[in-house]
Amino acid sequence: MTFTTRFAPSPTGPLHLGHAYSALLAHDMAQAAGGTFLLRIEDLDRSRARPEWEVQIKGDLRWLGLDWPEPVVRQSDRADAYASALDRLAARGLLYPCSCNRADIGAAAGAPQEGVPRFGPDGRIYPGTCRDRPLADRGPNDVIRLNMGAATRALPAPTFTETGPAHLGTHGLDAQDLVTTVGDVILERRQMAGSYHLAVVVDDAAQGVTHVVRGEDLFDATRIHVLLQHLLDLPTPQYHHHRLIRDEAGKRLAKRDDARAIARYRDDGLTPSDIRARVGL
Ligand code: GLU
Repeated sequence: MTFTTRFAPSPTGPLHLGHAYSALLAHDMAQAAGGTFLLRIEDLDRSRARPEWEVQIKGDLRWLGLDWPEPVVRQSDRADAYASALDRLAARGLLYPCSCNRADIGAAAGAPQEGVPRFGPDGRIYPGTCRDRPLADRGPNDVIRLNMGAATRALPAPTFTETGPAHLGTHGLDAQDLVTTVGDVILERRQMAGSYHLAVVVDDAAQGVTHVVRGEDLFDATRIHVLLQHLLDLPTPQYHHHRLIRDEAGKRLAKRDDARAIARYRDDGLTPSDIRARVGL
């Protein structure tokens, strides 16, 4: 079996130890399998992505000893691919425009009910206010949502294989569960060509990614990705969600944790092997 994986950072800040672990692990797994390691720049959010972060990210990854084929795919160049995936879903009647802002959604969701989740992997579970609106009615500021009920109605019984330690095994998608715990996810945002979920699925398929290696925080979103793969007739890769690197207090690292930025460690005289040791590789 071929093995193609990718590291897909968003250029919105410096790489920290958690990113280093993710990239090194994916690279090591590709190397062990005689496969390919790709870098993909996930710069869909133009308001936060900066070219200088991309330069620094590449510099940090090279310093860590990683390499990848150039040119790299940049999501900001892929608007046409996302638009044609949206067209396919629209043709199946699975999309609708939505003008609700956060306050509208909070108000429509009403009081919390016991046992009913309010948040899913895509944020607050959408109460469905705009669900009956036709796409043709889309206003300039509307987002596009997937009608999860309609999308899962004819779902065969998709499964995906997970090789990460926390969720090892085969996982099935449950239609009812997707409706109640994920809901109508956003597939296109204002000022962005697609949403993270749509772009990641379209790009993994276009780049022939066979193995997705990424942090455990994205395990829950994988159901959305596998569903989209089925709706768009795209292959489902194998998934490996790895443990998250945490700080001394047990909190997961975020981009703002500049103190743990790879560049900072490098400036302090640490070597790439020291970084490997710190993340347990
Ligand atoms: N761009 C995402 C991030 O920086 C990673 C997405 C993925 O690996 O699927 O968190």
